[in-house]
Amino acid sequence: MGASANSLINRPILASIHTQAFRHNLNRVRELAPESKIWSVIKARAYGHCFDAALKGLSSTDGFALLDIQDAVWLREHGWEGRVLLLEGLFHENELELAQELSCDLVVHCEAQVEWLEKYIEQGHKPFSIFLKMNTGMNRLGFKPEAYRTAFHRLHAFGCRMHHMTHFANADQADQRPTVGEQQEVFERTIDGLSGPTSLANSAAILWHRNALGGWIRPGIMLYGASPTGIYADIEHAHLKAVMQLQSEIIDIQELKAGDGVGYGGRYQAPEAMRIGIVACGYADGYPRTAKDGTPVWVSIGAEDGNGIVCPIVGRVSMDMLTIDLRNAPQAKIGSVVELWGDRIPVDEVARMSDTIGYELLCAVAPRVPVAIK
Ligand SMILES: *Cc1c(COP(=O)(O)O)cnc(C)c1O
Repeated sequence: MGASANSLINRPILASIHTQAFRHNLNRVRELAPESKIWSVIKARAYGHCFDAALKGLSSTDGFALLDIQDAVWLREHGWEGRVLLLEGLFHENELELAQELSCDLVVHCEAQVEWLEKYIEQGHKPFSIFLKMNTGMNRLGFKPEAYRTAFHRLHAFGCRMHHMTHFANADQADQRPTVGEQQEVFERTIDGLSGPTSLANSAAILWHRNALGGWIRPGIMLYGASPTGIYADIEHAHLKAVMQLQSEIIDIQELKAGDGVGYGGRYQAPEAMRIGIVACGYADGYPRTAKDGTPVWVSIGAEDGNGIVCPIVGRVSMDMLTIDLRNAPQAKIGSVVELWGDRIPVDEVARMSDTIGYELLCAVAPRVPVAIK
């Protein structure tokens, strides 16, 4: 996302990031896992919310987990003195020195990373704090159980402070294998007798597998107020708040006759005379082009009191605009504020209507959309 903005300037589109909602969601995580320390996961520019907002809203976290060492540099430059975990460890050996300077905790998931560390410490450098990653069935990153203990002993022998980590493939789906229980069983069996705290749970495990948390939990999506499953109803009980509100305005209104088509390809045809609102938000802003007719937006009909009406998208989303059916909202006019997603329209709902999940939409908000941190 681009430069920050304090008000709607130029083109009327804005992503507002509500730091109070970050605070609320982090508190909810603490209530759900009071015994655990929290790595707040802020990869992908804090799931598209920008690092400034995350640092401000999540400052009471125990640590931040991210991917790119340059983002760790940013956090340190902006005064973060707490812990920082590089979730995929080092990508190249030449990052070791910077990682040490920044006091990063490192995930170690493969043999090459172990060798880099051994060589580096042998040269007289200090050992690291390590989250050693075990592949317990997701088959993405990590040591197979049969190789895990060897890797552990090697790093332990070099004085590294060791933690045990794994990641669940199906914490959001009850019947899919490997189940959380199966992965957890492999994990526990493999670390039996080894020292060090554990880290297992992502948001889905924090919400639905409270017996699989570990000493350090790793919430991501729930901090942003969206659902690990992509279905908003699944997290309603958790009382999380949407952190991002994406809003725009109606910039034109067309009066259609029955049978008139709307937009490219005329995907929608007016069944009767009706008004269509043109909203200044398109796929170049990160709104999904795959959104089907019927995807909801919220149209303000009273600037002061926050009154509004949900209206459906009709016609294909284009690069800079989308079109909505105003039959429910006779009060809507040019300049009416439209919420594309936020606390009235869950991002998960837009995602569901676009065959994706909220994660993807949040991360994809485009650099041309100004951000206001509130
Ligand atoms: C992204 C990520 C998380 C957070 O996942 P959510 O589903 O967003 O809670 C946790 N752990 C690891 C290793 C990750 O890569």
